Amino acid sequence: MSANTPSAQQPPDLPEPAPRGAAVAADVSDAGLRLQRALDQQRRLMSQLRPAQLAMQNALEGILVTDNDGVVTDVNPAFERMTGFLRSEIVGQNAGQLYRWVETPEIQGEIVQHLMRRGFWRGAATFASKTGERHDSLTSISIMRDETGAPQGRVVVFADITELRQTQRLLEKTATTDRLTGLPNALKFDQLLEQALQTAAHQGHRLAVFFVDVDHFKSINDTLGHHVGDEVLREAARTMGDWLGEQAVLCRRSGDEFLAFHPVTQSASEYRALVRTFTPESQIDLAGPPATRITLQFSAGVALFPDDAQDQESLFRAADGALYAAKARGRRCVEPFTPSIGAQTARRMLVERRLALALKEGSLRLAYQPQVDIHTQDILAFEALCRWHDEELGEVSPAEFVAVALDGTLAPPLGRFVLAQVLRDLPALRAQWPHIRVALNASIQEMSHPDYFRHMTASILQAGPDTAQHLEIEVTEDALGQITPALQSQLQALRDLGCQVSMDDFGTGHSSLSRLHQLPLDKIKIDQSFVRQAQDARVQSILKAVIDMCSALGHEVIFEGVETEATLERLVALGARVVQGYIVGRPEPLSHWVNEPPKNRA
Ligand code: C2E
Ligand code: MG
Ligand code: MG
Repeated sequence: MSANTPSAQQPPDLPEPAPRGAAVAADVSDAGLRLQRALDQQRRLMSQLRPAQLAMQNALEGILVTDNDGVVTDVNPAFERMTGFLRSEIVGQNAGQLYRWVETPEIQGEIVQHLMRRGFWRGAATFASKTGERHDSLTSISIMRDETGAPQGRVVVFADITELRQTQRLLEKTATTDRLTGLPNALKFDQLLEQALQTAAHQGHRLAVFFVDVDHFKSINDTLGHHVGDEVLREAARTMGDWLGEQAVLCRRSGDEFLAFHPVTQSASEYRALVRTFTPESQIDLAGPPATRITLQFSAGVALFPDDAQDQESLFRAADGALYAAKARGRRCVEPFTPSIGAQTARRMLVERRLALALKEGSLRLAYQPQVDIHTQDILAFEALCRWHDEELGEVSPAEFVAVALDGTLAPPLGRFVLAQVLRDLPALRAQWPHIRVALNASIQEMSHPDYFRHMTASILQAGPDTAQHLEIEVTEDALGQITPALQSQLQALRDLGCQVSMDDFGTGHSSLSRLHQLPLDKIKIDQSFVRQAQDARVQSILKAVIDMCSALGHEVIFEGVETEATLERLVALGARVVQGYIVGRPEPLSHWVNEPPKNRA
C-alpha cells in the first residue's frame, strides 16, 4: 500500500525560497509545509479508502479477507453476525476451519483447483458457525492481485441462504409428501418403485406390491366427520407401516387407498404364505366426547415382481385385481394375485370398456317384472331391470355388469339411462294401469354422486307433476348401512315429492332394528334366498316375525323370487300379500306388457 509514501515531486504551487539571514526560520517553515503536504495527501488517500471501508462495514454479505496462505486478515460485521466469530477471534486464524467439518475434501480440492485456474470460485457452500451449526451459503472467492498482478490474498463473500434452502427443502417435501399422513405421495412412490424394480431386476430378487383399502372408510368419514376420517387415515398409515415393516415403502394413493412395496428375498411361495397369515386390524380410541373406539380393518391385494407382472403398470393392475378378490372374499384379508384373478380382472376391464360404449350408444334395454297382489291378482308395480346384449360378449348378466359399473365410474351413467328410459316408458304403463309404480334400483355409488338427487328431481319434475307418485327407489340392504344423514334427508325429500323408497334384498345385509326404524322407508323386499327356504319351519318363524315387524313399522312387505306354487301357498299362509317372482311374471320388455294385457297369473 502506498498510503504512507511521500510524493517525490515538488508540487507546482510551492512559494519562492526565503532570503539569507532568515535561513533558520525559513527551514523551519519549509519542514512545516512538507509535513502539511504529507498530511494532506494521507487525508486524501484516507478519504479514498473510506468508501471501501464503509462498504465492508455495511455489506449484508459476510466478507472475509485472507493473505496468500489463507490466514484471515480481516472480516466485516456481517461475517461476525453470520458465523458468531468475533473479528479478534478469527483474524490470524486459518480460514479453512470454517469449512473443515462440513465440506468434503473433494469439494475443497475442486474449489482450490478452480481458484488456481480461473482466479475465482463461486457456488453453494456450507460453512460452520462458531457453535458448529451448519449454514448454507452462496459463496464467492476471488484472488486479490495488485497492479503488477501479484497475488495479495483472497476475498471471500458469503450470502447466507439457509432460510432460502429451508424453504426450498420444504417445497420439495410438500411436492413429494402426502400432507395428511406424512408418507411419500403417489408421484414420489412411483419414482421409488421404479428404482426398486430396477434394483430388484439387477440383483435378481423379488418385489411385492400391495394395494390396501381401509374397509368401510367412507361410512366412517360420513358418519363421524372428516376430522375423525383424517385421524383414521393417519392411524391406518401407522398400522400399515407397522404391519409391513421397515423395509417397505408405503404411500397413500388417494382417499383410503394405500400402496406399498417390499423387497422379497425369500421364495415367492413362502412369502405368499406369510402374507396370508396377516389379518390387518387396528383399534383407534377417539377422545370424544363421546369417547369412541373404532376397529379399523383392511383389505389388501398383493402382486409379485417378476412372477406376476414385470412392469409398474401391470403390477398395479395385478395388485388391484387381487384387492378386488380380497373384497369379494369378505374383506379384512390379504389376497395374493393368481392367474385366475388375472383372468377375472381382464374380463372386468373388457366388460367395463364395452359397457361404456353400450351406454354411449344407448344399446341397453329395460325389462319390467311385475309385483302382484296375490289376493286380487292385480299388478301393483313393476321393477325396472337392466338388460344388455353385447355384440362381442353376448348376453351379459346384470349381476356381472352392474357390479362392474358400481365398482368403476359407470354407475351414474347407468342410473341416468334407467331413469330416462323409465320416464319414457311410464306413460304407456300408466295408460294400462293408472295407479302403477315403477321401481328403480339405486346403488349407494349412484346416490353418493353429488348430482344424483338434483338430476333425479329435475327429471321427475320435467316429466310431469304427478310422475313422482308412480316411482319407487329400491336401495339394497347392504347400502342402507352407508346411508348418511345427508343421503337420508335427500331420500326423504324424494318421498315428500311422492316417490316411495324400498329396502331391497332384505335378509342379506345387516340392518339393525333401530336403523330400520330411522330410515325413510315405505317397503321392504324380502330376498329370494330367504323366500326359497320358505318350507323350513325356522325360516317360517323368521318370515312371520319380519311380516309382523314391518306391519308395526308401517312398511309394506314384498316377497322376491317366488318360483313355485308351494312357496306361494306357504307365504300366503304366513300372511304375505305382494310377491314378485317367476310364478307371477318374469322380467319382460315393455312391449310384452303394454301390447298384450297380462294374464294375472303367469
Ligand atoms: P334385484 O333388484 O334384487 O332384482 C331381482 C332379481 O331377481 C332380478 O335379477 C330378477 O330377474 C330376479 N328374479 C325375479 N324373480 C325371480 C325368480 O322367481 N327366480 C329367480 N331365480 N330370480 C328372480 P336380475 O335382473 O338378474 O338383476 C340382478 C340384480 O342386478 C338386481 O337384483 C339388481 O340388484 C341389479 N340390477 C338390475 N338392473 C339394475 C339397474 O338398472 N340398476 C342397478 N343399480 N341395479 C340393477
Ligand atoms: Mg331390486
Ligand atoms: Mg332384490
